[in-house]
Formats: sequence, structure tokens, C-alpha cells
Amino acid sequence: MSPLNADLHCHSTVSDGLLAPAGVVRRAHANGVELLALTDHDELGGLAEARATAAELGLAFVDGVEISITWGDDQTVHIVGLGIDPANPALVAGLQQVRSGRDARAVNMAAELDKVGIHGAYEGALRHVGNPALVSRSHFARYIVEKGHARDAKEVFDHWLAKGKPGYVPHVWATLEQAVTWIVGAGGTAVIAHPARYRLTRAERRQLFVAFRALGGRGIEVLSGSQGVEEAREYASVAREFGFLASRGSDFHGPGESWMDIGKLPDLPDDLMPVWAELKF
Ligand code: AMP
Ligand code: MN
Ligand code: MN
Ligand code: MN
Repeated sequence: MSPLNADLHCHSTVSDGLLAPAGVVRRAHANGVELLALTDHDELGGLAEARATAAELGLAFVDGVEISITWGDDQTVHIVGLGIDPANPALVAGLQQVRSGRDARAVNMAAELDKVGIHGAYEGALRHVGNPALVSRSHFARYIVEKGHARDAKEVFDHWLAKGKPGYVPHVWATLEQAVTWIVGAGGTAVIAHPARYRLTRAERRQLFVAFRALGGRGIEVLSGSQGVEEAREYASVAREFGFLASRGSDFHGPGESWMDIGKLPDLPDDLMPVWAELKF
């Protein structure tokens, strides 16, 4: 049997993607995706449109979300929830709470950027926002590129927006326990997103996996658009060691602005249990 072309991590204009939910689904279908999850940051608002478009196209779809959490000493980690019920009251209320600090954070980010010569960034970022409740660093990056201060988003993050850079403002997101509890309580499967992206020591990373599993977390992204071959190998062995289900997601944000296009990841190692074995679709 040929492996399933599942893409279980991507974004629409409801968070920091460039395509509307329907556009993301159409592109996934055109690229050969056979099972899709839309996983906007801290938002469920695109799921109904995405699901309806997937149904029109005959594309299997599961409801998803990517929850921002704070881990340890000001480390931001992302937890993907798959197969969640978007109407679950605790999940809906929890995400509302997570989103609520974003606007004030954006005002503070703009004030910091102003001090280093990047002016008008709050208003500028808002012009790129599709959902006023979800202004993100990606929207700032688009404004800063538009103003000619940098060539691309990566350069913007390296100079201004990554942790420790002048436009970075520390922020407290959800806790790991909240994110996993909301996801599991909404009938979903919790997955650690792009594990290679976190600046954690080996010991800290293992602590994260242990704590995540103890709380009921089940999966890890072995394949991510932002992870290479070496990293896939490393997290495949983490999946084996911790008994995690393996996930696969491009983290697509938009044409020309992503590590990888939607639906273009390689296959998972075939000894791993894919996370979709546990999803209803
Ligand atoms: P926020 O949730 O506002 O902190 O924004 C985080 C988003 O910024 C991530 O989901 C990515 O889309 C984007 N991002 C983070 N780091 C980078 C990077 N180095 N290059 C490009 N985009 C990035
Ligand atoms: Mn993003
Ligand atoms: Mn992420
Ligand atoms: Mn993402």
C-alpha cells in the first residue's frame, strides 16, 4: 500500500497564512494531499470554511489548531491539536484567553522597533492581518520586508524578531498542561510541533517530551517543513523511544513564504505509527 500524503500542519489568513482557508484547501488538493488538517495559531475560525471546501473536493479533512505555550524560562513551544471538536467550550474559551494578549504585545513590539528605526510597525503589521485578534510576528515581518529593511522574513527574524533581538517582547502564552488538556478534552490528539525549532538543550528537550507524555500528549512531528533529513532521523528515534505517534506537516504559510509547499514532504519511516491511525476522517 502506498503511504498517505497527509499534511497535518498549515496556516490560513485566520492566523498568519497568506491564503484564505478555502485557498489553502484547494492548493493542498491540487498538490496531491490526501488528508489535511488546518492548524491556525490559537484559532479555530477557519475550520468550517476549510472543512466545507474539503468536502466539495472529496479531500479528507481533520480539524486542527496550533497552540502557543510558554515552557520553562520564556521558551515558546507549539502544540498541535488534531481531530479536535471546534465547538468544545473549554477549548474555545482557552484559545480566546491565549489570543487576548496579542494586541498589547504588538503595541509593545512596535514601540521597541521604533527605537531601532523601524517606524509605524503596529499600523503596518495590521495592514497584513486577516484576523484582528491574531496579529503575529509574521505580520510584522511582512511590513518590515515591504519597507525594504530586509529581503525576507528569515532576515527580519534574525535581526529584529527572534528571542533576544530588539523587537522581541517576551510573552506568556498557555501552559503545556492547559494546551494538552484543552486538546484532549476536545477529543483531539496532541502533537509537539517542529521539535527541532526550539532552542533547548538536549536535557531540556527530553524534559519537555517526558512532561508532554505524562499529561496525555501522544505525537511528535517527525517531518516538518522546517526540519531537514538529519532532524527527521533524530525525531523518528525520539518517537520510537517515547512511543509517540509520528506526524507530518509542511507548516505552510503561503506561496513563496514557506519552508516548503503544502503536501510536498517525504514519507514517514515505515516502522513508525502515523498519527492518522488514531484520527477519524
Ligand atoms: P508569534 O505567534 O506572533 O510569536 O509568531 C510566530 C510565527 O512567526 C511562527 O508561527 C512563524 O510563522 C513565524 N516565524 C518564527 N520564526 C521565524 C523565522 N525564523 N523565519 C520566518 N518566520 C518565522
Ligand atoms: Mn506561523
Ligand atoms: Mn509553529
Ligand atoms: Mn505552524
